[in-house]
Amino acid sequence: MSNPRILILGPPGAGKGTQSANLAEEYGVEHVTTGDALRANKDMDISDMDTEYDTPREYMEAGDLVPDAVVNAIVEEALSQADGFVLDGYPRNLDQAEQLEGMTDLDVILSLSVSREELVDRLTGRRVCDDCGANFHVDFNPPEAEGVCDECGGDLIHREDDNEESVRNRLDVFDENTAPVIDHYDDREDFVAVDGEQSLDAVWSDIQDAVDAHTA
Ligand code: ADP
Ligand code: ADP
Ligand code: ZN
Repeated sequence: MSNPRILILGPPGAGKGTQSANLAEEYGVEHVTTGDALRANKDMDISDMDTEYDTPREYMEAGDLVPDAVVNAIVEEALSQADGFVLDGYPRNLDQAEQLEGMTDLDVILSLSVSREELVDRLTGRRVCDDCGANFHVDFNPPEAEGVCDECGGDLIHREDDNEESVRNRLDVFDENTAPVIDHYDDREDFVAVDGEQSLDAVWSDIQDAVDAHTA
């Protein structure tokens, strides 16, 4: 069979980016992530899409959703070029979920769950490589040398939106807009709930079992 098409869902801080990197390496699939794509294009002009702000930046700094038209176009383009993928950060509302249905089929849908207080701790302590996007945590997953990426030697940064105020807003946006997406998928045969509050290795082991069970 061709490479797996994996969707990974969960609130901000659940570990989607971290586990997607494992999936990309283990299964040879592309990591398609709207957050990284938008961060690389924060200042693109979206004013012709009839949006409240002229660039993604304003939405992202506040922790609000970037308008659907912008994000749908990014995902459609990325998926059309991928031979197998792990899709991370999309869909974040029911309209995006409907768009996705017209773009591709999925082999497995993973949903990571983590309690709210743990998410706040994970996000405020997160450090991200400026060069390759690898994720670390000052306490839970520290790099070997402080401030330096283990993967590529790049600088680790504290994302602007990983401050407590933006984090709490993103968790509210998740409850309101994205939790219904999980409810929309959770009775499908290819849906697997994973306890995201376990250790990194235990989560990864559950994820591999789920993907293997649905792609064998
Ligand atoms: P998401 O992409 O879902 O927003 P990340 O993968 O960026 O989440 O993880 C958020 C933060 O939590 C990062 O700092 C990461 O190192 C840390 N983290 C991820 N998984 C775990 C885990 N199982 N236990 C503890 N910390 C974790
Ligand atoms: P996290 O997993 O920590 O929430 P992401 O890197 O996935 O962060 O996303 C960062 C920001 O990018 C979001 O707060 C939002 O502003 C924007 N964004 C990412 N994906 C989407 C999406 N599918 N729809 C709308 N906005 C998005
Ligand atoms: Zn790096």
